[in-house]
Amino acid sequence: MAKAWAYRTAGIPDELFNQNDKVPGPTKEEIRVVTISKARLNEGDVVIDVGCGTGGLTVEAALQVAPKGKVYAIDEDEEAIKLTASNVEKFGVKNYVSISSGKAPQELLTIPNADAVLVGGGGASLRVILQIASSKLRPNGRIVVNAILLETATTAIAEIKELGFKDIDIAHISVAKGKQINSGTMMMARNPITIVSATKP
Ligand code: SAH
Repeated sequence: MAKAWAYRTAGIPDELFNQNDKVPGPTKEEIRVVTISKARLNEGDVVIDVGCGTGGLTVEAALQVAPKGKVYAIDEDEEAIKLTASNVEKFGVKNYVSISSGKAPQELLTIPNADAVLVGGGGASLRVILQIASSKLRPNGRIVVNAILLETATTAIAEIKELGFKDIDIAHISVAKGKQINSGTMMMARNPITIVSATKP
């Protein structure tokens, strides 16, 4: 069978993922590309994906770190766990992903140390999640937070500073996609996302 995504580069089209109305995601294609690049991954790295949802970022990260690395995906929602598992299978990265059902920050405590932590969920627990994520990161490890809400972004920036991270980068990404209409191509705006990333000292 041909591979569902036969490339090294990130940016799997959204529609290739199995999707479910009850589960958010996948994180939109272009946002995934920037998120993965901010994580600065190498083959063999260990990545934690907090709030894996549909598995969009889990699959993209697994393609970067395989075959020697591993992605630990966490979600508190059973439907998200099942959907991530189906996408991990679809994209042939099952051997490089471990999926745990549980709530962050508690579930994070059971996971080994990592080179990068991606945070796409966390809600009210964001600060504690970042504190535990920081304790799991190796020196020079990367933290990357994708924020839909401005409040999530500002909380993340404040906590990441407090934890002493270096090279703090804040990128606010707006993507518009072309749609063909009778008279030409109309650009359709998508929700802007703030990506906060930094390096563990
Ligand atoms: N990046 C994903 C989409 C993430 S949606 C993708 O590309 O598919 C955010 C997810 O975070 C949701 O599935 C939600 O259930 C999960 N989530 C939110 N808070 C959480 C917490 N404290 N612990 C575990 N999962 C959480």
